[in-house]
Amino acid sequence: MTLSTIGMAASEIAGLVRSKQVSAVEVVQEHLAFAASHDSELHSFIDITDEAALSAARVVDEKIARGEDPGSLAGVPIALKDNLVTRGQATTCASQILKGWKPPYDATVVEKVREAGAVALGKTNLDEFAMGSSTENSSFGPTRNPYDLQRVPGGSSGGSAAAVAAKLSPLALGSDTGGSIRQPAALCGIVGVKPTYGLVSRYGLIAFASSLDQIGPFARSVKDSALLLQVIAGHDPKDSTSLESPAPDLLAGIERGVEGLRIGVIEELIDGVAPKVGEALLEAANSLGAQGAKIEHVSVPAVKYGLSAYYLIAPAEASSNLARYDGVRYGLRVEGQDMNETYVKSRTKGFGAEVKRRIMLGTFALSSGYYDAYYGKAQRVRTMIINSFQSAYNHFDVLLSPTTPTTAFELGAKVSDPLSMYLSDICTIPTNLAGHPAMSLPYGQGENDMPIGVQVLAPALGEVNMFRVARALELGAPVISRKLFWE
Ligand code: GLN
Repeated sequence: MTLSTIGMAASEIAGLVRSKQVSAVEVVQEHLAFAASHDSELHSFIDITDEAALSAARVVDEKIARGEDPGSLAGVPIALKDNLVTRGQATTCASQILKGWKPPYDATVVEKVREAGAVALGKTNLDEFAMGSSTENSSFGPTRNPYDLQRVPGGSSGGSAAAVAAKLSPLALGSDTGGSIRQPAALCGIVGVKPTYGLVSRYGLIAFASSLDQIGPFARSVKDSALLLQVIAGHDPKDSTSLESPAPDLLAGIERGVEGLRIGVIEELIDGVAPKVGEALLEAANSLGAQGAKIEHVSVPAVKYGLSAYYLIAPAEASSNLARYDGVRYGLRVEGQDMNETYVKSRTKGFGAEVKRRIMLGTFALSSGYYDAYYGKAQRVRTMIINSFQSAYNHFDVLLSPTTPTTAFELGAKVSDPLSMYLSDICTIPTNLAGHPAMSLPYGQGENDMPIGVQVLAPALGEVNMFRVARALELGAPVISRKLFWE
């Protein structure tokens, strides 16, 4: 193979594989070798599944040789966040409690990307059970930011974001409960999408907070992220929260431009962000204005309460979802004198500090004397947030905000201060509570030239307009001048 596919767009790789200019095996071998030489510093993967990847690539090449349609992602490498179950392959959630567990089935998204011809390279690092914003809560050690190895890649899908940003893989999947796709995408200078709740099946996504969790794509361009979302979207009878309506065509209108669209800049989410982040957002808004959109500032007052409501609702759901890890059904078991002691010892050893904190918070919020004061009130705030967005969407097609208040921070900077860590998601959490789609794309550089992310938000099932706006922004976005760690 004379042509290198490292750093190429997913759509381009698929085109070359389909037209037999390169084989899927060659593409995958090249990416595996590249990951082998760079991931020791980055630690974006927990497990690189070389053999499975090569045999999946062979299947794609055989299909092409037989003249069959290999799918829209033919031969394209993809990295999977390690909270997506993969049949017969360890799935850890970056926790010790799942040690040794091999799921007996594949997540629906894993099946769908395989059917589309994509080839999974392996499982990526995350904050334990997707709880965190820096990937430092992984029991396997942190992932690093590919633009500066002393900084975090964000979280919880930090491994997936870092792998794509560092060109170890053109695509990745992550999950977003409060920002875990968009925040690491912003910190690593790539595109990350949280779809409308229910657009993508959650079957086989290990649950954190089921009313908020959603799977979505990472890519280095808006179009590649739309291409991947198109593949994973759609109804799944195995997920009762999956929407019945067919997925919209996300690529068809993507180049239509923004002429005539009404775009609102959310006032409450610019207050208090780092000065360069705020400037980048205003530049982004101006660029859309110059391309014909109507830009105005808009107040969405209830978003201010998003973080507080989230830190009651998400831990409450987590405390219930994580009750199943009892030392009996999955992974790690520490034997005690009786059942109860086995549960306690297994959970004490198997869960890390942040997961325990969430379980305790959630159990407290749901306890009989406090249920109404905490959980009940948070649910009422959630309704207020939905209504507040609804009023804004009566006047605007999409909304804009920063994705994160700052660029990537240093490793260790927030580990002993959970509240400051939680604040990393202040701009992303409100959309999860509303169930709406939102995405982050790189726009400019902040302190130390680290990438800045701009967030495009849309009403439920507003993905078509969201991608149109993101594509228009991408066309006007400054190129990131900072070098990757290996460049
Ligand atoms: N950082 C947030 C949290 O710790 C969001 C995590 C996520 O989206 N999975 O809960």
